[in-house]
Amino acid sequence: MKDDQALYLGIDIGGGSVRGVLINREGQLFAENKISTNREWTNSEFLEELIRLIETFQNHKFESIGIGTPGPLSINEGIIHHSANLVNLVQVPIVSTLQKKFPQKILLNNDANCAALGEYHFGKGKGSQSLLVLALGTGLGAGWVQNGNLFNGFNGNGFELGHVTVQMNGALCGCGQKGCVESYFSARGFLNRYKDHTGVMLDSAKIFFEKVELGEEIAEKIFSEGLEALAESIRAAVHLVNPDKIVLVGGLTQSYHLMEKPLQAHLKNKIFPELYNHFHLEVGGNIAGSFGAASLCF
Ligand SMILES: [Zn+2]
Repeated sequence: MKDDQALYLGIDIGGGSVRGVLINREGQLFAENKISTNREWTNSEFLEELIRLIETFQNHKFESIGIGTPGPLSINEGIIHHSANLVNLVQVPIVSTLQKKFPQKILLNNDANCAALGEYHFGKGKGSQSLLVLALGTGLGAGWVQNGNLFNGFNGNGFELGHVTVQMNGALCGCGQKGCVESYFSARGFLNRYKDHTGVMLDSAKIFFEKVELGEEIAEKIFSEGLEALAESIRAAVHLVNPDKIVLVGGLTQSYHLMEKPLQAHLKNKIFPELYNHFHLEVGGNIAGSFGAASLCF
């Protein structure tokens, strides 16, 4: 390692594990470590584990620490308000607590924003002037990077595309409102809609997609409505910010072969031709969330 090559620590707080990576601006990996996530962690247990994880990198010299976590959060105050994955966390003062232990500057942002930055620096979004990234997973997250700058909105809560309404008085969303795109196109959305129609709660989105592939009528209907809802939300975003690239990331993209043709057809139908012809839609480059978190430091 050259002495002049600055390193950055990225931490991704995921549902299964908390991962840390030490990388440079080119995305070269210098060290990594992870701990298993415990859903029951209290604020202090969570912070102690996080400190222990960061300490494992202390034999390296690094400039700053970027942390990506599901929201809602306040990036200015450095607080995680609560978390769907870590159910006992309440108003966690994550940045001020870590700042007492570590001299490096600490930056916090939500995981979808980190995914967007990661795609911009290391993935399919390289070179884009206006990059829209949609994270299709348990929920539906999004992030927008314009001219290399992440759009944070107020306190990191900008571009919550998942909670844009695609159907007035539509299906109930996890946020408590009705008709959000997330309630139609996300793992949670598909499973809840399947339960609404059949009374059966499937164990995973994978099983849902298997039913779609097998041609089960109700699963196909829910999936096709979901795709149209997704297209409506992309239409809204395209008409608002005119991206030149849209990158889809997240677990549901494993079933992209089922989505590609109908989604493209909807988008072509719904979006002003000038704007439709301006963007390319791609599936993401499998950039780990921890790399995106590290890129908060750049
Ligand atoms: Zn919602």
